[in-house]
Amino acid sequence: MPRTSGAPYVTGLTCVRCGRRTRRGLDGPCPRCGPEGVLDIEYDVTRVRRSLTRRALAQRPRTVWRYAELLPVPESGRRPPWAPGGTPLAPSPPLARWTGVRRLLLKDEGRNPTASFKDRASAVGVTRALARRARVVACASTGNAATSLAGAAASVGLPCVIFVPEFAPEPKVAQLLVFGARVLRVKGTYDETWELCQRACDRHGWYNRNAAVNPSLVEGKKTAGLEIAEECGNEVPDWVVVSVGDGCTFAGIWKGLQEMHALRFIPRLPRMLGVQAEGARPLVDAFHEGRDLVPGPAETLADSICVGHPRNWRKALAAARDSGGAFVAVSDEQILEAMREAGRLAGVFGEPAGVAGLAGLRQAVAAGLVGRRETALAVVTGSGLKDVKSATRAAGAPFELPPEDAALDAHLEERPLSPRS
Ligand SMILES: *Cc1c(COP(=O)(O)O)cnc(C)c1O
Repeated sequence: MPRTSGAPYVTGLTCVRCGRRTRRGLDGPCPRCGPEGVLDIEYDVTRVRRSLTRRALAQRPRTVWRYAELLPVPESGRRPPWAPGGTPLAPSPPLARWTGVRRLLLKDEGRNPTASFKDRASAVGVTRALARRARVVACASTGNAATSLAGAAASVGLPCVIFVPEFAPEPKVAQLLVFGARVLRVKGTYDETWELCQRACDRHGWYNRNAAVNPSLVEGKKTAGLEIAEECGNEVPDWVVVSVGDGCTFAGIWKGLQEMHALRFIPRLPRMLGVQAEGARPLVDAFHEGRDLVPGPAETLADSICVGHPRNWRKALAAARDSGGAFVAVSDEQILEAMREAGRLAGVFGEPAGVAGLAGLRQAVAAGLVGRRETALAVVTGSGLKDVKSATRAAGAPFELPPEDAALDAHLEERPLSPRS
């Protein structure tokens, strides 16, 4: 059987819309369905199983490339030097109490090279662009996809064009500019920005990093699922909790977990809990009403999940359904509270979309959807330094004090330091 070029373990791709298989198109949508027809990449699991063993993994660096057999990349060739992945996974008993579950693990994706989960996808995207000898890479993003692409492109010297919608937070835009990307701030919605980028890539032959239409990007996101499975081994959590915008992160993690289950790294699969913001909840509604996606409004301070028309809705709904999971929505107030509590109780600083999952888990426990005796793993998808304005809203202002002992003592008397609960 001829193998899909440049990706030795890939056997083919299937369109999630029409179900047809193809051998081409590692970087674009289904040739028949267009952008609605997101492709899913498949691997030769029998061959992968022979080389991707626990013993082999023990010798490999803790980056996304340790799972190269399960990625659509050539075995050799140039890769970005700042490899994402290998992010810390740690239990937090205080946050377990706050959310209400018996045990809670946090995976801090803010520790990636440009401080978000998106680095996993961009590393694969830029490697694909190099393999295809693309001269320019581009994407439309609310921020993190763009900053990760700009960083990875800078590290290999590829020109990078970024289309950002007007509401992107300043720190993310600053990151883009520091990485030397061409930044185009589009006076329009995210959807309009996305369409403009799409057309630009078609017209100029740029490598398109837009995650939903480019199946290779979801493969990069999948590495978090692979990593979770490898690290958890027999202690699979009952739930894996992820915030959801376009749905690629959620679907990617689920795919990684399934592959590791097929490779027998984990004995069973967790259930997937997807969390959206109240003001941008089309997947929550589609899931609860058991129907296809209907695009809806998008308004939330969690800019990274402020998506009214999720591009990867079919994969996201399937991940919740197939895992016996669920979707919940949380308010901006709940997100700010989670930002404060994750910082205060666990020392983890997440941006609003980064901690939305924690807010959703707490809500799901309160609603009886997740049991108090169950265990969970929450993916904190991006760093709080990405959105300092929201952090300040969540945490408030410092106390003012003259440089005098008496003033300090008076302050401490009025507000004693107490243990954290
Ligand atoms: C992009 C992003 C998400 C959501 O990922 P999707 O693939 O769009 O669902 C969540 N959190 C952060 C920090 C992100 O940047």
